[in-house]
Amino acid sequence: MRDAYGHLRTAKLGYAINLVTEAVGAVGRPALHLAMSHRVFVAAVKVEHVSPTKSSPSDSSTSDGTAGIVIDDVTHEYQPARGRPVLALDHLNFTIRPREFIALLGPSGCGKSTLLYLIGGFMRIQNGRITVSGQLVTGPGSDRGIVFQHFALYPWKTVRENVLYGLTKQRLPKSERLEIAERFIQLVGLRGFEGSYPSQLSGGMKQRVAIARTLAIDPGTLLMDEPFGALDSQTRALMQEELIAIWNQSPKTVVFVTHDVREAVLLADRVAVMSARPGRLKEMVDTRMPRGLNADVAETPEFIEKVKYIWNLVRDEAVAAERQR
Ligand code: ADP
Ligand code: MG
Repeated sequence: MRDAYGHLRTAKLGYAINLVTEAVGAVGRPALHLAMSHRVFVAAVKVEHVSPTKSSPSDSSTSDGTAGIVIDDVTHEYQPARGRPVLALDHLNFTIRPREFIALLGPSGCGKSTLLYLIGGFMRIQNGRITVSGQLVTGPGSDRGIVFQHFALYPWKTVRENVLYGLTKQRLPKSERLEIAERFIQLVGLRGFEGSYPSQLSGGMKQRVAIARTLAIDPGTLLMDEPFGALDSQTRALMQEELIAIWNQSPKTVVFVTHDVREAVLLADRVAVMSARPGRLKEMVDTRMPRGLNADVAETPEFIEKVKYIWNLVRDEAVAAERQR
């Protein structure tokens, strides 16, 4: 549970945050008690100096609910109680256009999750600034939906209740909320499991519930941290197709962290390749392909060429990251 620094890992922070994303008000508290799926256990998680002020959907989304993101000279250094400070991001700059699908690639430990948490407003921005739709990020908001690397569900709620939970704060009639929940449960292929509890589901199914819960809220900005990493390859391919279909139906700004170069090229308009820690932007590669539910795209010479090009960029950085160890 604790890392070399004696601190809870960011991934665990992710669990905490996901569980309270909807209960935004709670995030400002210094410690959160949470129960996690699998083994239900309680942990006190310190959330880093999150400002109690938070943006609301109305003040941080454009009128059509979409958002562009500006990352302006962002530096982030972790200062663990024990051990040396870790410079995770170093003067990072880039702009994501409204409704653009960006994939974030880079070696393990280069600061991808850190960047996602900062955009999500879950950690204080130490240096630089991030704006979403022109609004400075000062805390979490329901305009930004996040799917963490590790599924985080309420173990005591059923699939339906987990998906419904995020919708409770939207002022919709109950029947409409139920209808939305059913639609997204079906979309992620979990029809028939509405009444199941997380403990009765496989890892991949749990992650699909987490994805359904976030998508159901229909945030203008979708932040996804290796969301398909735990899925088997078949489910992963299906979920990729679904994500493209959802994005086509209701384009939103997406920041999608992945290790998988093919997945990045398949899904994204542009791929941001980050350098080994401290994370900087190494190169932004245009990867817009004719999208659709057409798996043949991956067979085209253009696609194969892009994958090769990006893979070479990533490999150089992975080698650099290995040397840091
Ligand atoms: P990625 O998601 O790209 O693998 P992270 O953003 O999780 O990388 O982490 C970036 C760097 O910051 C890594 O070296 C990691 O070990 C370090 N780090 C992450 N969280 C903490 C923390 N809470 N305390 C100290 N160091 C951390
Ligand atoms: Mg990560």
